[in-house]
Amino acid sequence: MNKAKRNVVIAGNWKMNMTPAQTTEFITALAPMVAGMDGCKIVLCVPYVDIAAAVAAANGTNIEIGAENVHMEAKGAYTGEISGEMLASCGVKYVIVGHSERRQYFGETDVTVNGRLKAGLANGLKVILCVGETLTEREQGITFETVSKQTKIALSGVSAEELANVIIAYEPVWAIGTGKTATSAQAEEVCKAIRGVIAELYSAEAAEGVTIQYGGSMNAGNAAELLSMENIDGGLIGGASLKTADFTTIVKAAQ
Ligand code: PEP
Repeated sequence: MNKAKRNVVIAGNWKMNMTPAQTTEFITALAPMVAGMDGCKIVLCVPYVDIAAAVAAANGTNIEIGAENVHMEAKGAYTGEISGEMLASCGVKYVIVGHSERRQYFGETDVTVNGRLKAGLANGLKVILCVGETLTEREQGITFETVSKQTKIALSGVSAEELANVIIAYEPVWAIGTGKTATSAQAEEVCKAIRGVIAELYSAEAAEGVTIQYGGSMNAGNAAELLSMENIDGGLIGGASLKTADFTTIVKAAQ
């Protein structure tokens, strides 16, 4: 399988932005702008409190809604957490796990990311698994080791069949929210290495089929070049997903 046959996914990560009313307004404005752009999946991962408004506003459009995390347990005494069943029952189709902000500020580890990823899959969600090195790790020359370890632990216990519902987002931590984008060559090199890890864990066929996104200050100006790389099948977009015109330009670049 070559790039042309893989699913391309452009996903926004709203982080802690937007109220339900702003969500309705945003998606109502975005929907006609991206109508008919069916060359990629269009996903908005939104805060939990915005999910109902997002699902309602996206109904009948080509925009799908995701969440920004999921808890590993099905239910119970986990104050502040949300289960996969809860998300699926609200019409959520995608969920992000392992975002570097969760790892950095909320103590998430490769092991908790693995639990959350499996909970997402068990509830029929498509899971966007984020991996990526810090600036220190890049400078120490351990980028490949870092993303390889993150990928292997996150996918532990995940079958080849389940892998079909996993999207990997390569997000160098030093490029997130900093305006410092990885060059297309740097991003391609690591995305290709991640595909190699999937071949090692599963098969060459699985590696050829898996969608690998780049994330880290992707914007209207640099998306086309990044998305033209052989091993980059989409983007996970933070800041630029909060602006309808910029997000539309990125979606257009993925057609
Ligand atoms: C992200 O939050 O995953 C991200 C890539 O953010 P930004 O596009 O703002 O760097």
